[in-house]
Amino acid sequence: MMERVLLIRYGEISLKGRNRRQFESKLEENIGNAISVLVEDAGKRVSKSHGRFYVTGLQSERLEKECLEVLSCVPGIVAISPGVAVESELDAIKQAAIYAVELAKRDLNPPATFKVDTRRADKGFPLKSPEVNQEVGAAILRNVPGLTVDVHNPSIHLNVEIRPGRTYIYRGQVQGPGGLPVGTSGRGVLLLSGGIDSPVAGYLAMKRGVAVDALHFWSYPITGVRARDKVVDLCKALRKYSPDLRLLVAPFTRIQTEIMDKCPEKYRVIIMRRMMMRVASMICRDQGGLAIFTGDNLGQVASQTLESLRAIERVSEYPVLRPLLCFDKVETVRLAQQIGTYDISILPYEDCCSVFVPKHPVTKPRLDAAEKAETLLDVDELARECAMNIEVFDLG
Ligand code: ATP
Ligand code: MG
Repeated sequence: MMERVLLIRYGEISLKGRNRRQFESKLEENIGNAISVLVEDAGKRVSKSHGRFYVTGLQSERLEKECLEVLSCVPGIVAISPGVAVESELDAIKQAAIYAVELAKRDLNPPATFKVDTRRADKGFPLKSPEVNQEVGAAILRNVPGLTVDVHNPSIHLNVEIRPGRTYIYRGQVQGPGGLPVGTSGRGVLLLSGGIDSPVAGYLAMKRGVAVDALHFWSYPITGVRARDKVVDLCKALRKYSPDLRLLVAPFTRIQTEIMDKCPEKYRVIIMRRMMMRVASMICRDQGGLAIFTGDNLGQVASQTLESLRAIERVSEYPVLRPLLCFDKVETVRLAQQIGTYDISILPYEDCCSVFVPKHPVTKPRLDAAEKAETLLDVDELARECAMNIEVFDLG
């Protein structure tokens, strides 16, 4: 019996022993989660063998396409190939190959060419790989009109993988993000603004296996509802990569107002960032997190010089990690477009910082000056109050 299957390859060959097992079981779980929005009993459709995962039982071609798309966003997956599985028996293999080629041909402009590439992992199979190539190739030529063989540069590359009892016939591949399954690197808090950078930083953290809680500081009504909605939309976009992503919105108005009223203008932004770090540290501790992620990029603005970064992260209890620190803007933009956050990020909105940034911020803040500048605030009390009033957002 012929069955539709998605063959999933994963990487990180450097993983060994216990790490590898943890990687695999997490990836299996995440694959099941990802397709659970499309199919029932998702977990039961995922199986592992020979260093790959297989998703089976997809009744229609449309469902297969949808699953393929969803899975291409799951960190840890390197590539996915659509195909069919049959019993390891030559006639069944031929039938399946014809079917697979017909499907592939539909998506191509004529004239289409093909090549059969057999791997005989089951050495007990009566025909050798080149013989299977020939037999299957001849059957395709006989049954699918308008096709010729091209072994060097075929438009359809058909892989036939013969295993004991079961043969997989698949065509082409779709790239996944690679990286590590979300959850294998622990939790982290992402400082998410409405800009271009921080969503990309969040994506990179997730791609490296971090389960992310996005934290947005919202200064309503200094910044409007639209600013918050934008962050909600960004999180929805990022959920493709990690369906468990959560959004926490922290009320920041009081802190911002107090800084405006009481602190020297030049140090406003640094103090504001230090307040964000204090709150983020509390959230990180609450959620069992291990690090804080930001979209900082070295030298981009006054608050992102090395002097500023040092003065800011001083108050964090956790490592402050900045995946984009050394990116050029074009690289970040390209990645933002690729992951689907760019179009949301460039929508106009009012950043809590844009209404707040002084004309001449310090680019080389001194740590002692920053510390002195905030002595007029009760920083611990303000941070605690902010953290206590955080709202967890339902992303639907
Ligand atoms: P982005 O595009 O991510 O906004 P940016 O280059 O505009 O980055 P800044 O606005 O200076 O940089 O912010 C630096 C980092 O501080 C952001 O990448 C983000 O991680 C964090 N951040 C800034 N504003 C907020 C906010 N309102 N809530 C949460 N985090 C924020
Ligand atoms: Mg910004």
